[in-house]
Amino acid sequence: MIYVSISDVNMLVFEAKLDGQDSQYQLLDEAIRTARFVRNACLRYWMDNRGIGRYELSAYCATLAQQFEWAGKLNSMARQASAERAWSAVARFLSTTRSANDNCKKGKPGKKGYPRFKKEQTHGSVEYKTCGWKLSLDRRSITFSDGFKAGTFNLWGTRDLHFYQLKQFKRVRVVRRADGYYCQFCIDQDRIEKREPTGKTIGIDVGLNHFYTDSNGGTVANPRHLRKSEKSLKRLQRRMSRTKKGSQNRAKKRNKLARKHLKVSRQRKDFAVKTARCVVRSSDLVAYEDLKVRNMVRNRHLAKSISDAAWTQFREWVEYFGRVFGVATVAVPPHYTSQNCSNCGQTVKKTLSTRTHVCPHCGHTQDRDWNAARNILEKALSTVGHTGTNASGDIDLCMGGETPPSKSGRGKRKPKERSLESPTIFGTPN
Ligand SMILES: [Zn+2]
Repeated sequence: MIYVSISDVNMLVFEAKLDGQDSQYQLLDEAIRTARFVRNACLRYWMDNRGIGRYELSAYCATLAQQFEWAGKLNSMARQASAERAWSAVARFLSTTRSANDNCKKGKPGKKGYPRFKKEQTHGSVEYKTCGWKLSLDRRSITFSDGFKAGTFNLWGTRDLHFYQLKQFKRVRVVRRADGYYCQFCIDQDRIEKREPTGKTIGIDVGLNHFYTDSNGGTVANPRHLRKSEKSLKRLQRRMSRTKKGSQNRAKKRNKLARKHLKVSRQRKDFAVKTARCVVRSSDLVAYEDLKVRNMVRNRHLAKSISDAAWTQFREWVEYFGRVFGVATVAVPPHYTSQNCSNCGQTVKKTLSTRTHVCPHCGHTQDRDWNAARNILEKALSTVGHTGTNASGDIDLCMGGETPPSKSGRGKRKPKERSLESPTIFGTPN
């Protein structure tokens, strides 16, 4: 069970499950809790001393380690990493209020408010850099050697870590999830793959009937299994809410629900990765709509919210693979893509329920989404080379930020919130 996560093209992230004793997991918990403490303490320090910067925060770590004996147990670089997390929350906030030149300004919707303290919850993580841990010679186990002394864990995964040199391991992150503890390895390695030019370009339009329709009329079906999962999520949610607060039973039900969320998010990711990789490999340019969070209409339909989340993730992976394979990815403004005629360019008003585009001006008849996909491609081809604003090569995924690159934390959110964060692809009549 190893997953590759989205990140910069020059960083690979592999994940393996940690196999150890219960007592060892408790020690990992302590380390995670301490990392959270350091992050929150740094945040508090910043709030009390507004105007201080990154440097002061990282210096404050040492003070914390002296003040609290157990904080000193955490590896010094891991403490630094926690301070950096606090700082990236602060920087994200500052960049929105001051419009400072922060890389994270773009492409990271929904996380821009005043920095908040992290609560204790199921998922949590602690990040080590180049020390505090040691891989075994056969690279099948890892030993944590900082003050918590969590000891040696076997690594469950299929990815061969032998392939990389030790100095390429830039970060090791321990992540707690509903179904166990995982170790993420961030490896400094360019991921650029060779690909023969195909001479093709493609525009894609996402919709409810199909996951997407492309400019050649091809379609990819919606991931039905995700809808099924959503049903059982609802059921598990109901079951949990029937139990008594604070009871053993509730804890059990909550874990069950969290595991299901985890499963759904893994399914969604799997789908996004495979579909995105396939699209990117098949053309030299991929165009899609630039759907912004702000112009979104609140989306009440559960089925839609799943597609929304799947689409958001799909887009991130399209952009990632675009960089890996050297394929241009272009996000075009979503205006009039479904209304205009892809043959003559005239506007043909239609409601959401009109599934077929029939042009009274030139007689062109085409499936609505297919027509839109052609418009999207057309727009992309007319802007590419002229503007950099919507070409998505510059989208920053904020690797060093708060969110671990694997998106499974998302699963904890209620669908309602999720739909707020993701684009409404279907609602706005334009
Ligand atoms: Zn026409």
